[in-house]
Amino acid sequence: MKILVSDDVSIKGVELLREHGYEVDVKTNLDEEGLIECIGEYDGLITRSMTHVTEKVIDAATKLKVIGRAGVGVDSIDIKTATERGIIVVNAPTSNTVAATEHTCAMIMAMTRHIPQAHDSLMAGEWDRERFTGIQLKDKVIGIIGLGRIGSGIAKRMQAMEMKTIGYDPYIPEDRFKQLGVESVDLDTLLRTSDYITMHTPLTKETTGMIGAEEIAKMKDGVRVINVSRGAVLDINALADALRSGHVAGAAVDVFPEEPLGQDINPFEGLDNVVITPHLGASTVEAQIGVSVDVAEGVMAALNG
Ligand code: NAD
Repeated sequence: MKILVSDDVSIKGVELLREHGYEVDVKTNLDEEGLIECIGEYDGLITRSMTHVTEKVIDAATKLKVIGRAGVGVDSIDIKTATERGIIVVNAPTSNTVAATEHTCAMIMAMTRHIPQAHDSLMAGEWDRERFTGIQLKDKVIGIIGLGRIGSGIAKRMQAMEMKTIGYDPYIPEDRFKQLGVESVDLDTLLRTSDYITMHTPLTKETTGMIGAEEIAKMKDGVRVINVSRGAVLDINALADALRSGHVAGAAVDVFPEEPLGQDINPFEGLDNVVITPHLGASTVEAQIGVSVDVAEGVMAALNG
């Protein structure tokens, strides 16, 4: 059987598939047309986050039995069409949890203490200590939207920094909040009372555009906003306006509605109170090996019935 790997994934998963007798082709950077041209040959497809498996791609995938997503979010795959055609979709939801959690913590710290800006300034030969005065995390309120694997990991780590944790997640029981030591609040209260707001929901119909201009207007003056979930959860243009006006004191963003984020569509251009990274949440050696092996196992399980 033939499997196409269409994004950069660790070689470990590819090796595992080959050891089990699968023929694996790695062809990255295919656009939709390129994928449509070749997908008809394959029984399995493995993607990360760059490949979009659209209805047109699925239409051309006459032999395809399984789509594996090396990571958690399956919003890049048209699951409805895949399911209608009997194609199984598998993901690797747990292997990059720690990586994304730690990246969120790193973003919070870097933003709060202006580390990238101070680094650039010192590299440019300046010794400017006043411009980069930060604040302490201790005793600040962090509002966590979505308390799944990553959100609950953030709660645990930020509690260790002596922050007060509050959270909004209508899909988990109150007992879970108690277990995590997180105060359960509604979204409005979270927006109005948090010093830091961080998003950790999947991208669904309900969460698309969940945090826009209206929600940002409700936030406290001087709030700091973090998004390491999915780009379309947050309106980055509204966030950039609020950073410019000073209503939002800082932002840390890893994911964007359109990726890659080209310079022509980067609303943060010229702002120095923002830290952005190019979707690096899952980019650790451990996570990449983990998701690659997990997704290979999932794809083999699906192909073996
Ligand atoms: P998860 O499924 O474990 O948790 C998601 C939580 O969001 C669940 O508890 C769910 O109840 C909650 N939720 C769903 N809809 C909600 C809503 N409308 N309001 C509030 N809460 C809601 O997922 P996870 O593994 O914690 O991943 C969370 C997000 O992080 C996903 O979007 C995933 O794609 C993203 N992610 C990004 C990176 C990256 O590289 N930046 C890496 C890994 C995961």
